[in-house]
Amino acid sequence: MDDGSAPITGRRLRDPRYDILFEPVRIGPVTARNRFYQVPHCNGGGYRDPSAAAEMRRVKSEGGWGVIFTEQVEIHHSSEITPFIELRIWDDEDLPALTKMADAIHSHGALAGIELAYSGANGPNLYTREVPLAPSHTPILTFTSDPVQARAMDKEDIRNLRHWHRLAYRRAKRAGFDILCLYGAHGFGIIQHFLSPRTNQRSDEYGGSLANRARLLKELISDARDEVGDRCAIAVRLSLDELAGEAGFSNSQLRDLVAMHADLPDLWDFAHGTWEACSGTSRFKPEAAQEELIRGLKQLTPKPVVGVGRFTSPDQMVRQVRQGLMDFIGAARPSIADPFLPRKIDEGRIEDIRECIGCNICVTGDMTMSLSRCTQNSSFMEEWRKGWHPERIRPKQSDARVLVVGAGPAGLSAAHKLGLRGYEVALAEATAELGGRVSRESRLPGLSAWGRVRDYRQGQIARMANVGVYRDSRLSADDILGFGFSHVAIATGARWRRDGVARYNLLPVPLDPAMPVFTPDDIMAGELPAGVVAVYDDDHYYMASVIAELLISKGCKVIFLTPSSRAAEWSFNTLEQAAIQARLLEAGVDVRVTRGLASVEKGAVTARCTYTGRLERLACDAVVMVTARLPEDGLYLALAERREEWAGHGIQSVKVIGDANAPAAIAWATYAGHRYAEELDAEPLGDELPFRREIARLKD
Ligand code: ADP
Ligand code: SF4
Repeated sequence: MDDGSAPITGRRLRDPRYDILFEPVRIGPVTARNRFYQVPHCNGGGYRDPSAAAEMRRVKSEGGWGVIFTEQVEIHHSSEITPFIELRIWDDEDLPALTKMADAIHSHGALAGIELAYSGANGPNLYTREVPLAPSHTPILTFTSDPVQARAMDKEDIRNLRHWHRLAYRRAKRAGFDILCLYGAHGFGIIQHFLSPRTNQRSDEYGGSLANRARLLKELISDARDEVGDRCAIAVRLSLDELAGEAGFSNSQLRDLVAMHADLPDLWDFAHGTWEACSGTSRFKPEAAQEELIRGLKQLTPKPVVGVGRFTSPDQMVRQVRQGLMDFIGAARPSIADPFLPRKIDEGRIEDIRECIGCNICVTGDMTMSLSRCTQNSSFMEEWRKGWHPERIRPKQSDARVLVVGAGPAGLSAAHKLGLRGYEVALAEATAELGGRVSRESRLPGLSAWGRVRDYRQGQIARMANVGVYRDSRLSADDILGFGFSHVAIATGARWRRDGVARYNLLPVPLDPAMPVFTPDDIMAGELPAGVVAVYDDDHYYMASVIAELLISKGCKVIFLTPSSRAAEWSFNTLEQAAIQARLLEAGVDVRVTRGLASVEKGAVTARCTYTGRLERLACDAVVMVTARLPEDGLYLALAERREEWAGHGIQSVKVIGDANAPAAIAWATYAGHRYAEELDAEPLGDELPFRREIARLKD
């Protein structure tokens, strides 16, 4: 039987340097098989897609994680964070979904952890319509600025809160969880609201001194021990620093707390103070970014410590353990990008690790209440819906030969997955370099990690005898018809528009040809404007801000114009917006929001206030248009026009995928490539849905 600890290859080739990562570690009454600890993370599915979430975690159990957590689980209906979709343990009706989750986690030998959350000042209760409760009277502190306040809790409320926790502990144990973790990090859980002098302004025995502010935590943990401590470990997840100086729950206060209550929980899990700081993107935070905040904490307690840091390098992990920074390597995003990360280290397959690129597209699934996706792991949250797996794919159904044209993320992903299926594949790329947009973009400031999208796939394909890579091969329709492949995937990408068309201007903007106008493609090709440059952002993701940074570093003065009320508006969903706007302002960029582009003249642009329509002329020497893109679909269209010739050349199908089909973020392209490979030679679905879903059970 596969218990998850056996290597897939059947041979254990682990580098002895990494043995320490595979030592079992005791957590109260339970023992983790190794030090790989998947910390709680959202997935945009939660209570709406419980089987999808359970299967996603099952795959991680198969991938060798020692501990696997749920996302936050709301313990009581008096505190919920609608519109965001997490899990709930409100009553026994939630238990089947949670039991399924715990069973899935256990399936290959991992310990199942449940993160119990009472959101307090963070939960607006838009769904249950209950009055939110918090240590003090506080407006609801969440992303959505709802016109709702939390009421200050009285002693009876605190007694009730303890009782509700007891109910949740019992149910969590019944569902089969091994570790119960109280959530008090990222500014989200009520434990943090009690610990912080900013949100706890009480004058009773629950407020004031640190010992008083920690009283609730102490009571909740001793109640948990009393209820389920015989079988379940009790953990707590706390913020390393609320990032509000000593007015908040600071790093020094955390140290005092851990020293004061060193033995209190069975495990301490430390995360950064805000979600934005904890889950920083690679553009803003390197691997192990929280090291200074966590250093020394482990020495204050005999209990095991977990920390995070977007760890993907086993050497870095070993260092964290050897230097006494943590006992468990906590990971959310690295476990999403590669659910098999522990097994790959165990089996000596370091080169097979699919490293997280730190883009936070996964986070956007939660922020947009959709299902999360991952740029690197296109099977994420499709494990149950579509039966996709991050490492396996069904074998080929025919001896068809497949030509993939274009080696960007879509083409690389298609070639890789087709290769895994066993098809004979030719991947033709017009240039000398593979990677398409990720190679180009990875040379822009802060985006070097984008190159990992190419590196992983290029590395995998290089070892596949059935995949041939042809560089410097710009193919025409005649070439393709002449080759006689059975199937052709066109993944030729997209180009940025120069005419100002995007959302604000659906029609081209009047442009004086005497004014130099650049696109991101020009900039990435090395053409740089000089002097004062207007960067016009009607794309709203990262590209315009990255170009602004580049131009500043080259000595330009930059005016950043956007019709949005914030720079890089959509990056709010990747938790980067504030950091991007701060970086622009600190770099001296003249950021002008709510400004649509009206026209481009020689020596100036005219901007229009999106509210009043008032026009404003801004003198500048050049413009960079970061607007919409157009598919590079000429090759596809040329082939489509000659459809009647296909059969004569042995061609059964020609499909256009990725940006050449419809431009989007990189994750959409890796997904499109994967999907193409999954669906080749599949039975047509007709009118059936291409995924499974769960429908709410109706009651009278
Ligand atoms: P996607 O994100 O959809 O993968 P990219 O723009 O990143 O798209 O990649 C498209 C790739 O296709 C680029 O590397 C480009 O050089 C290549 N390409 C474009 N046209 C051709 C062609 N006619 N033949 C071969 N490769 C092409
Ligand atoms: Fe990492 Fe991006 Fe995947 Fe999230 S979406 S796990 S940040 S690669």
